[in-house]
Amino acid sequence: MGSKPTLVKKNSLEDPLQFIKGVGPKKADLLKKINLETVSDALFYLPFRYEDRSQVKKIKELIPGETVSFVGEVIDSTIIRFGRRRKIFEALVQDSSGFIRVKWFQFNENYIKEKIKIGRKFVFSGKPTYDKRSGGLEIIHPDTEVQSDEDSESLWIGRIVPIYHSTEGLHLKSLRTIMKNVVEGYKNLIEEFLPERIIRRYKFPTRSEAIQKVHFPPSDTSTKLLEKFQDPSQSRLIFEEFFLLQIALAFKKRYTEIEERGQPFKTRGETIRKFLKLLKFDLTLAQKKVLREIMDYLEKKEPMNLLLQGDVGSGKTVVAIIALLTGVENGCQTALMAPTELLAEQHFLNIRPFCEALNINIELVTSSGTAKEKTLIRSSIESGTTQIIVGTHALIQKKMEFSNLGLIVVDEQHRFGVLQRDAISKKGLTPHVLIMTATPIPRSLALTLYGDMNIAFLDEFPPGRMPIETNLFYENTRDTAYSLLEKEIKKGRQAYVVCPLIEESESIDLKAALSVSDELQKKRLPNSTIKLIHGKLKKEERQKIMTEFKSGEIDVLVATTVIEVGIDVPNATVMLIEHAERFGLAQLHQLRGRVGRGEHASICLLIASHALTGDGKARLNAIIKSRDGFVIAEEDLRIRGPGDFTGTRQSGMPLLRAGNLLRDIKLLELSRREATDLIKKDPQLEAPENIKLKDALYNTFGNQSNLMKVI
Ligand code: ADP
Ligand code: MG
Repeated sequence: MGSKPTLVKKNSLEDPLQFIKGVGPKKADLLKKINLETVSDALFYLPFRYEDRSQVKKIKELIPGETVSFVGEVIDSTIIRFGRRRKIFEALVQDSSGFIRVKWFQFNENYIKEKIKIGRKFVFSGKPTYDKRSGGLEIIHPDTEVQSDEDSESLWIGRIVPIYHSTEGLHLKSLRTIMKNVVEGYKNLIEEFLPERIIRRYKFPTRSEAIQKVHFPPSDTSTKLLEKFQDPSQSRLIFEEFFLLQIALAFKKRYTEIEERGQPFKTRGETIRKFLKLLKFDLTLAQKKVLREIMDYLEKKEPMNLLLQGDVGSGKTVVAIIALLTGVENGCQTALMAPTELLAEQHFLNIRPFCEALNINIELVTSSGTAKEKTLIRSSIESGTTQIIVGTHALIQKKMEFSNLGLIVVDEQHRFGVLQRDAISKKGLTPHVLIMTATPIPRSLALTLYGDMNIAFLDEFPPGRMPIETNLFYENTRDTAYSLLEKEIKKGRQAYVVCPLIEESESIDLKAALSVSDELQKKRLPNSTIKLIHGKLKKEERQKIMTEFKSGEIDVLVATTVIEVGIDVPNATVMLIEHAERFGLAQLHQLRGRVGRGEHASICLLIASHALTGDGKARLNAIIKSRDGFVIAEEDLRIRGPGDFTGTRQSGMPLLRAGNLLRDIKLLELSRREATDLIKKDPQLEAPENIKLKDALYNTFGNQSNLMKVI
């Protein structure tokens, strides 16, 4: 094209940014890098912070300690060196009223020389202080922004200035100019869709007004509120985003309740009574409470859609078994799905004895086994002979034909978003679904990710839960960690040693599981039985090792993270984790949950490399400080941000543009209440005042047909 971009006729908020004044093909590409392609993308690309430059002064008027901005020209600059390491970049800046020195102690020499050039004009912002040596004023590390004569001053000085995340090659200032052009050019096309009642109740500005103010706040705006994202304009935009999501989820939930048909179960039958007699322990009060909830759901003809949260070791398996047996007693097939084959095998081995006693057919479906075996299992599932099917999550992805699947339990899964759940609901009756997770989902995520589900909590541990002491070691103290392990083994306890890789890799200096187990055997525990378990072992070998570990024949199990979830060996009291910094918080919590299950106190020994990053340190600290899964999950969310926590992107969760699940929890809850309320009053959004809202829903979620098929 090459020609100067012009402001073409504005049609819709979906216009490509390339046609905005100031955006050519090159800038359009840069904008794409920060996911800005259309006008609407830009309008909702909110500043992440603001700089108050409403106080503009002349240099002569500057006062020590008072944050201000001023415009000045660089008239001299120099680098002063102290010894070999330390250096200061100093520039002398002038305006019509006087001079001031500005200084940098940390800088990239080439970059700063190129930027702070003599003769260039900048707007400087910062806090002047006295220079002790000269007695004059100076500013250390001021914010600087180049000024050129074509700039319309009003955008970057004498006002509260928006700061956006930008990308290399795209100056903040030109991004700001683009934003100005977009907002000015399209503000009249921004239509309101929130019901008037809500706008009035919360005194929200209109949508158009909010967008304008959020990007270019008028000078009387409180910067304190802006910084906390609590300015009315910000709140409104955050609210509307959550509100749409919550309405969509409310729809989905209603749809599930109204349209989907499950099989109502008779509960608390003879099989369950027999099973409880076979159990070696009494149910905890929490297990009883949760089971009551589950049974209530199962008795209804709407399919159950329940997320059960219970920390590691709270006893979810028994709850799952009772649900499965209830299905079987009602003549249905039921399935239990686990995230790894190892855990599926463990569940299978756990449950099988009960099934034998109760005369129920149970099968394990895994990727291993001969083709013949697989065909056999498959046909016994298709024919309905198999009553309980245990397998990995792949069960629902594979083209498994069930005879009449009435209930599914999904274990240790929290990455099971709204859309994936639809995969289970096949033709005909929809099975009851129980999702169990030990990785607690912070309330904010539970409300969004699982907003269409019911949630139950297993909030009590079986009696006799022993303490676990968690300690951090470094490479130079690893010996201490291993001697603690040795001590426990000599007392007759068992231990897990977890390593991130199984073979010594040349490029990364990892203590591989193999060498760890060799060294342990040779140097420390020559008379103990040490075995290595990892994902590449054959199913039979894996099962054999697990059985031997359970029965106490193996003392130390050296493993990759395949043991992360679900394994239950009460006599194991040591969890030693190599390269602990390489694991996520949820993983560490799960791993530690493997111990502290029996009658003995346990220890968790974390070995970390010296080169811990800030995040790594924060993660390990969180684990050391708390054993409460909820505290740990919140901390995880804080450290990593919500995007990472559950892999929200893959889970079908819409990306949030304005809202932040951690920061804006109040608005999230508010929006949920309002959404529920609204759907109750106007289930199809047919009232005239809600028509615009319905359009907005279509525009936002229209491509997610499952979410929207109801309206
Ligand atoms: P998780 O919730 O992590 O899946 P499990 O179901 O594996 O927990 O249970 C942890 C341990 O507690 C198991 O050894 C299990 O047999 C035991 N357990 C579960 N419920 C009870 C109970 N009511 N009383 C005593 N022990 C229990
Ligand atoms: Mg479990």
